[in-house]
Amino acid sequence: MSELRWHPLLRQWVAVAAHRQGRPQMPHDWCPFDPGSGRVPDDYDVYLYPNDFPAFSNDAPPFSPDTGLFRTTGARGTTDVVLYSPNHNLLPSQLTLDQWRKVIGLWIRRTNELFANPEIQYVVVFENTGVAIGVTMPHPHGQIYGFPFIPPLMERELESASQYHRGNGACIYCEILAREVEDGSRIVSANDSFVAFLPFFGRFPTEMQICARRHFQKLADMSEAEANSLASLLSLVRKKYDNLYGFPMPLMMMLRQSPAKGDHPYFHFHIDFLPIQRSPKKIKYLAGIESGCGTFLNDTRAEEQAAILRQTDPK
Ligand SMILES: [Zn+2]
Ligand SMILES: [Zn+2]
Repeated sequence: MSELRWHPLLRQWVAVAAHRQGRPQMPHDWCPFDPGSGRVPDDYDVYLYPNDFPAFSNDAPPFSPDTGLFRTTGARGTTDVVLYSPNHNLLPSQLTLDQWRKVIGLWIRRTNELFANPEIQYVVVFENTGVAIGVTMPHPHGQIYGFPFIPPLMERELESASQYHRGNGACIYCEILAREVEDGSRIVSANDSFVAFLPFFGRFPTEMQICARRHFQKLADMSEAEANSLASLLSLVRKKYDNLYGFPMPLMMMLRQSPAKGDHPYFHFHIDFLPIQRSPKKIKYLAGIESGCGTFLNDTRAEEQAAILRQTDPK
């Protein structure tokens, strides 16, 4: 069973889940996510699969926000695996638009369920891809965590957006997007509803953001047309990433939406892509300065990488 321990120096929760050490290295000839495994329906398009080794669990004791030295509390929450396709060997970059649209539909449905759960404060839809990231399962999938608290980096981002909004009534994301569109040098691609660009301040090599053109807060606020546009830009961006160095890009994809509870009109839906490949042969490790100090050394320049990605074949 997982527990949360309070880090009094950094003022954040650490999820201690010793049972996750027992995660098996999957046998090469069997995958629980494949139709016929007995673990998933024999016939599915996309599927929400409960994580077998959860960091957060519905069975854990309830979460209490009280903090202090040597404080622990229950890691109550949810963790699901989102299966993008029944096809074991498909890369996310090979999903059809129709399939991406189904994945987005599942993200929206699960987000709505978790927003209605009184114990969930924040819903993180994300994907870890690539052996270099530590993914043990090649089957195309992402994950959804329902947190009993707002995780610290999201809390910091929410504070920044809220403070900016209080200062001049504007949305910090809308302003950044307008400046990026005007400048153009860091734009990778765009469509009616979304813009993909490499942020001026990116921390990871070839870090990218997909930002909604319209100001809205969460997945469920998207119109049908916007969801279709998002599917199309996700597909394009993933193809470009995998073609950049000629092999699947190891990356983290993080969907950023408003917290599950309360009104957050200052927040603006976006997706961050955090790749860890800094050149065809080199991985970016989060070493002393990043892990120990929280300052990132980015070995790529957003302007140069964006120019290269604009030219990169999206096929
Ligand atoms: Zn599989
Ligand atoms: Zn906005």
